[in-house]
Amino acid sequence: MRIDVLTIFPGMIESFASESLLGRAISRGVVELRTHDLRDQCTDVHRSVDDAPFGGGAGMVMKPEPVFDTVEQRDPPRPLILLGPGGRTLDQGLARELAATDGFSLLCGRYEGVDQRIVEHLVDYELSIGDYVVNGGEVAAMVVVEAVVRLVPGVMGNERSGIEESFSDGLLEYPQYTRPADYRGWSVPEVLRGGDHARVARWRHAMSLQRTIRQRPDLIEARGGLDEREVKLLGEFGLDLPGSQDSSRS
Ligand code: SAH
Repeated sequence: MRIDVLTIFPGMIESFASESLLGRAISRGVVELRTHDLRDQCTDVHRSVDDAPFGGGAGMVMKPEPVFDTVEQRDPPRPLILLGPGGRTLDQGLARELAATDGFSLLCGRYEGVDQRIVEHLVDYELSIGDYVVNGGEVAAMVVVEAVVRLVPGVMGNERSGIEESFSDGLLEYPQYTRPADYRGWSVPEVLRGGDHARVARWRHAMSLQRTIRQRPDLIEARGGLDEREVKLLGEFGLDLPGSQDSSRS
């Protein structure tokens, strides 16, 4: 998989991408990450990538020329995705879609954003990391890269962790514990300490359901409530059923 990032701060991306799982995936050649400095394409003495907005108003806008020139000369992989708060919101489904491709490119905005002609005539679509505004697309690009790359086969040490974790089946992950079995008098649930693997699996599924019911009832509603087996499973471990009208299957 090849991911290209177009930015005026390539150092931010390179530094972030050199560490941890992502750094290892890159050094092992599972993922190739290329950065393109948008200032490299600027011909004027100040290498300016921004200019004042037509019509007036606060802030500056990213000029079209350096961005079009970078894309046309470097030919980064498509889709070319613009990070922006108005785009399609990133979720696990979109991360999975991107993880199934051979690559894509991320264009990071700065200032008040980019000239609209970049949106209309250059990028394939816009992607948001959530309903809030950050100062630039670099952090957003790193969120996308992290969410996608960990789904690429061979990147995570333990392939199962990608299958079982939050959102993979519309539920949040079950709670996890490690040693010590007793910490300050708070002990690890008994079921996890016995060797009954089938019971552990049922408990985890039940806890996953309960955690989602409590913390993200919208996810339960989105999957159409609970089925009979799940209701029974919650009962087996004495866990709460969801508040009546929120989760009943209609
Ligand atoms: N004036 C713009 C915000 C510009 S923030 C507006 O009101 O919509 C500067 C840059 O940060 C954007 O061009 C975009 O690349 C990035 N950015 C800010 N918030 C983002 C978000 N929620 N998701 C993705 N990118 C974001």
